[in-house]
Amino acid sequence: MFGLLASLVWQTGCRSTPAGADLHRFEFKQPHMGTLFTITLYAPDETRARGASDAAFAKIAALDRMMTDYDPESELMLLCQKPAGQPVRVSNELFDVLQKSQRLAELSDGAFDVTVGPVVRLWRRARRTETLPPPEMLAHARAAVGYKKLKLDARNQTVTLTVLDMQLDLGGIGKGYAATKALEVLKGHGLPRALIAASGDIAAGDPPPGRRGWRVGIGNLVGTRSTASQNSTNELRTRWNASLPREDEPPLSKTLLLRNAAASTSGDMEQFVEIDGRRYSHIVDPRTGVGLTERLQVTIIAKSATATDSFATAVSVLGLERGLVLVESQPGLAAFILRKNGGQTETFESRGFKNIPRANAESLAR
Ligand code: ADP
Ligand code: MG
Repeated sequence: MFGLLASLVWQTGCRSTPAGADLHRFEFKQPHMGTLFTITLYAPDETRARGASDAAFAKIAALDRMMTDYDPESELMLLCQKPAGQPVRVSNELFDVLQKSQRLAELSDGAFDVTVGPVVRLWRRARRTETLPPPEMLAHARAAVGYKKLKLDARNQTVTLTVLDMQLDLGGIGKGYAATKALEVLKGHGLPRALIAASGDIAAGDPPPGRRGWRVGIGNLVGTRSTASQNSTNELRTRWNASLPREDEPPLSKTLLLRNAAASTSGDMEQFVEIDGRRYSHIVDPRTGVGLTERLQVTIIAKSATATDSFATAVSVLGLERGLVLVESQPGLAAFILRKNGGQTETFESRGFKNIPRANAESLAR
């Protein structure tokens, strides 16, 4: 949330062991979903590496076309244009991501809610105009928000928007979902030693040759300054390009070692608006329709990037205490949370977080 953008920085090593001696490291980047996706993988040669990464990027592009709310022709937007109350049959993947979203909506008591579209649109406008959404427009938008107004029928694979003017928004889960699916594509091409990164979301497969995992740094961005006009994409690119943190970057607060696991950081304040001295995040509380103002940076670690992306958003909405309760109720989920309190940054960990392997622990063991 706070300041620069990407709060996850990954670093890779090039050391090879006999098992991976014939593998080389390749890195490819493409813009999708309003951010830069980076694929790092180990492959025997460039042809294999390019073939697999092209297929993985094609998967991400297809999911982007399906889920975007910027294109009125996307499957998601066509669904939203159907008359209220009409069941609409959707593709396997759209049904899958909506089903996962609804499960988390229930689990988080509506903190994660993909029906937030109407209020998210008002806050997008608020960011452009730097004025708060007019109360009557907010009230109108809120009437179309609420995960219980979205009905899924698994037998017929249909989706029903039960109320007029509903808008679905998959911004809180789409990048993680795409990263998870793209990693599966790489595995399908026989290249499981791969990592996919998209701003705050990372999906890691098998580790680099001779390593126990991919080094993934959680940046401490809570204390850094930022302005609404900052060009976040450039900042993000420079961070992702770096194999080591730059000197002018805030120090990393933790370096994890991930294999067949994912991590997401939410609340990087990449998109926020400051009005009358208050800072409103692009993550909104579905119950109030208002952008979050608490200065939290939430990192979630779990098996899949679909889970980490969406839980990071959910925990941001729930806030520290309730967020930690949710994380600890889920096996295989861990959280690392930074909170800005006045000039100070406090850190909080869920119980499971200490079990995530650390890069420094690995070097000590060697
Ligand atoms: P980022 O996209 O910066 O990684 P998130 O993953 O937290 O951050 O997603 C934020 C996006 O999720 C918002 O831009 C919006 O599209 C959507 N969103 C906002 N509030 C919610 C919410 N309460 N539940 C689900 N999605 C949300
Ligand atoms: Mg998210």
